[in-house]
Amino acid sequence: MKAELIAVGTEILTGQIVNTNAQFLSEKCAELGIDVYFHTAVGDNEKRLLSVLEVASKRSELVILCGGLGPTEDDLTKQTLAAFLGRKLVFDEKAMAKLDRFFASRPGRVRTPNNERQAQIVEGSQALQNPAGLAVGGLIEQAGVTYVVLPGPPSELRAMFTESLQPLLNQSSQQLYSRVLRFFGIGESQLVTILADLIDKQTDPTLAPYAKVGEVTLRLSTKANSQEEADFRLKQLEEDILQRDKLREYFYAYGEENSLVQTVAERLVEKNKSIAIVEQGTGGLLQSEVSLALTGQPYFSGGQVIGQLGTESGRCSEEADGIREELQADLGLAVSVLIKSESTEDNVLAKVYIALASTSGISQKEVDLGGYSWQHIRQLACLQALDFVRNTL
Ligand code: ATP
Ligand code: MG
Repeated sequence: MKAELIAVGTEILTGQIVNTNAQFLSEKCAELGIDVYFHTAVGDNEKRLLSVLEVASKRSELVILCGGLGPTEDDLTKQTLAAFLGRKLVFDEKAMAKLDRFFASRPGRVRTPNNERQAQIVEGSQALQNPAGLAVGGLIEQAGVTYVVLPGPPSELRAMFTESLQPLLNQSSQQLYSRVLRFFGIGESQLVTILADLIDKQTDPTLAPYAKVGEVTLRLSTKANSQEEADFRLKQLEEDILQRDKLREYFYAYGEENSLVQTVAERLVEKNKSIAIVEQGTGGLLQSEVSLALTGQPYFSGGQVIGQLGTESGRCSEEADGIREELQADLGLAVSVLIKSESTEDNVLAKVYIALASTSGISQKEVDLGGYSWQHIRQLACLQALDFVRNTL
């Protein structure tokens, strides 16, 4: 189903608020297998909203409007939609009863005719009740196009979408199922080159790469009637991807919300191993992340942030082993970041030394990194250290 979103509100155009409703609605539509092709923002202006509706009605099967359902003069979404469809506004009984209850329980509040506009819907609409506010929403089909109106406040819009609208939309479409593969140690352009043929010919399932700080994720998506059907297709595509070049080596975990530090934390818990950390040049970032990921677990033994570790990797190994013994941890990790003298403000070059000590010995690694700021280099250095631990565990 082809859909588009229309956010109504001058505040969006003047930059006073960000159109987060569009993001929420797009994400939800994608999950429901509805293709959103356009986002529009339009001011609180009848003529301009009418012109936007005119365009939307010709190119979309589902038009979702949000904002402008309130009691004030500038709230004109329902009135304008009614005029566009050549219909009247009528009162919805349930919404009216809710308004009655609201004012009955607040004797001090003056009820004006404006308030009652919040209980109106376009004649012929299916009302969408508002679990978080007073303005009622609605859904109406005319000439093959379904129009939906939702309130502007995000808490109301989300509640109405989830409780009232989603069940109606669900009936009419296949759902979108996705899985996210996470890669570390390979750049986006390299990944895209390896997968060029799959990306070029994609229809369903689709695959979309996203570059994040130091890593790349790949989202595989398919429209299907059930989780099993989707899993079957996504598994096939995943196999095809991971068997290419060395991609299986770079792949480290699944999940949009996942991260390298999360993965390392899970492995430490799984293997029942504690870790102590010494770091230089990262300001304690690594310990901060590891301790956060291990909150409530006894696997982060503590560590040190030191000023000077020196230039040679030998010192790093000594420090890794030293902190492991001192804090009686199973693993001792040392990271040292040395900024190179040829760095400039927006092109920071660094040499990173990493050492990991355990009872069975010490392993070490050196990497050259380039980043656009000191903070970026710190983040990349921490990711390198985490990846080193992940590969060892
Ligand atoms: P109200 O009854 O509060 O007037 P409404 O349905 O008329 O609700 P608007 O007046 O358009 O909605 O917006 C009310 C508030 O909701 C805005 O001030 C803003 O904080 C938030 N809001 C509106 N539209 C959006 C949007 N597209 N994205 C995020 N927030 C929004
Ligand atoms: Mg309003």
